[in-house]
Amino acid sequence: MCGIVGAVAQRDIAEILLEGLKRLEYRGYDSAGLAVISSSGELQRVRCVGKVQALRDAVNQNPVKGSTGIAHTRWATHGEPAERNAHPHVSDYIAVVHNGIIENYAGLKEKLIAQGYQFSSETDTEVVAHLLHKQMTQSTRLIDAVRAIIPHLRGAYGTVFMDRRDPNTLVVARSGSPLVIGLGIGENFVASDQLALLPVTRRFMFLEEGDIAQITKTTIEIWDKTGRLVERPVIESNAQYDAGDKGTYRHYMQKEIFEQPNAIKNTLEGRLQHGKVVFNELDNAAQEMLKQVEHIQIVACGTAYNAGMVARYWFEALAGIPCDVEIASEFRYRKPAHRKNSLFITLSQSGETADTLAALRLSKEIGYIGSLAICNVAASTLVREADLVLLTKAGVEIGVASTKAFTTQLTVLLMLVAKLGRLNKMSEATEQAITHALQALPSRIEQVLTFDNMIEALAEQFSDKHHALFLGRGDQYPIAMEAALKLKEISYIHAEAYAAGELKHGPLALIDADMPVIVMAPTNELLEKLKSNIEEVRARGGLLYVFAEQDAGFESDSTMKIIALPHVEEITAPIYYTVPTQLLSYHVALIKGTDVDQPRNLAKSVTVE
Ligand code: GLU
Repeated sequence: MCGIVGAVAQRDIAEILLEGLKRLEYRGYDSAGLAVISSSGELQRVRCVGKVQALRDAVNQNPVKGSTGIAHTRWATHGEPAERNAHPHVSDYIAVVHNGIIENYAGLKEKLIAQGYQFSSETDTEVVAHLLHKQMTQSTRLIDAVRAIIPHLRGAYGTVFMDRRDPNTLVVARSGSPLVIGLGIGENFVASDQLALLPVTRRFMFLEEGDIAQITKTTIEIWDKTGRLVERPVIESNAQYDAGDKGTYRHYMQKEIFEQPNAIKNTLEGRLQHGKVVFNELDNAAQEMLKQVEHIQIVACGTAYNAGMVARYWFEALAGIPCDVEIASEFRYRKPAHRKNSLFITLSQSGETADTLAALRLSKEIGYIGSLAICNVAASTLVREADLVLLTKAGVEIGVASTKAFTTQLTVLLMLVAKLGRLNKMSEATEQAITHALQALPSRIEQVLTFDNMIEALAEQFSDKHHALFLGRGDQYPIAMEAALKLKEISYIHAEAYAAGELKHGPLALIDADMPVIVMAPTNELLEKLKSNIEEVRARGGLLYVFAEQDAGFESDSTMKIIALPHVEEITAPIYYTVPTQLLSYHVALIKGTDVDQPRNLAKSVTVE
């Protein structure tokens, strides 16, 4: 999480740092800060609680001027969001910004205190600043001191260091959290995501695990984890992103919900040919490996985990391949047992999700047949480290609550179901049904988006509620989970999802007029069973909101509101039914006045475990 920007240039860089932070704000936004080295060699630091705009206001009041500097927007892990805990942290002439967690900070802090260092924050980061300062008494160059202290730091982190006595140098170290160097002419930059630097450069070097780099205005030197001087390729980025451009939309999340027909179209492009799924990105060796697959293990976090849960129903029902799905933070510490010919699939929007990456690395030790990553960011660590990659082509997702990344993950997963299914026992007819349903999906979603006004009106009925229950059966159960997650994330209403058949085993006790129950009820073979579950809720005075097809035989009355949606193919119904629940969460959040794109306590791209 957190955003890092650094610059070493010949011009005043305060504005570059602020603009970069603004573009990274979705990664953390509880406090922000920057420090620059002035022409007289002074460290000028401004920090504040709140968003980047608050930092901008603070800089306007206390202008800083310098051509080398570092900046940070924080997602607190150690110490509350407060000015004293905001980065950069300093130790005399040393300044540091840091993404991630130093796990052994407590022991280091104790020793540093015993040696006379005074701490002004509760962060783990300040330990790094003092440790580096201490090391500087034995090293003449910042780079040497950084290389000396790195082996003493445990955890996942990305750091940028600056010494005000050497105003032409930044040193960066990557261990677990992404860092990218941006190349300019007579100036160079660093950031935790290339998006931050797009206004100043399109040429990037992505640091690899364990890399340490020294950046000056005109030189970049990189050492790998073994200490060897290495070259990293320069990549010309064609990423598109204008932070200010929400178009006519009020929020990024709203824009991203409405972009879904196009995002899915892009994701499908070139991959459906004459009723078949074609993944040109998978070479012959990959195809041979996929032929051997007898089991699938999906590992992911949050929304991506919910996508994996949907895929499990698909892999087993349509492709006849056993599939397990697990949360990455559990998988990585569970000592999972080996399964024969099992394919390890990871899902992540950013490709930097710390727990998912750790699970992928663990999978390599366990002996899976291979790994496949489904990811939205081509230049991410997950993409680099997986054996096979299928990209979602959702475009940049800025809203912290994921929408188009989820539906495009499902789109790729369903194509993969067809691909693996055909290598297994799936009939040609089933593959055609899948490709036909996927082809129709963008226009189906366009149709369901026209229900926006209706769902906006419906949202009024949720705004004073403290709890909500989402129900589904079969592949709609994970959609209920995703809908509950979305409502929680952005409206702060406590929401739970249950497989409707589970109601009588406990949750029915919760039902009363204050607990709205939202049911995902597309027409399928489970609909009759679901109708019985709905009656169980009605008999106990519950208030129901049912998303169903127009001719599914439901009628609205005082205890049940039917949201009658146009027909959709059964196979793609999970993707389609997601969309109205996204709109519902969005409108409830609007009414409640929460910060839709940057909900409290959260951040996008979860690079800490
Ligand atoms: N652990 C550090 C802190 O709490 C960095 C958190 C971040 O990545 O923003 O300040």
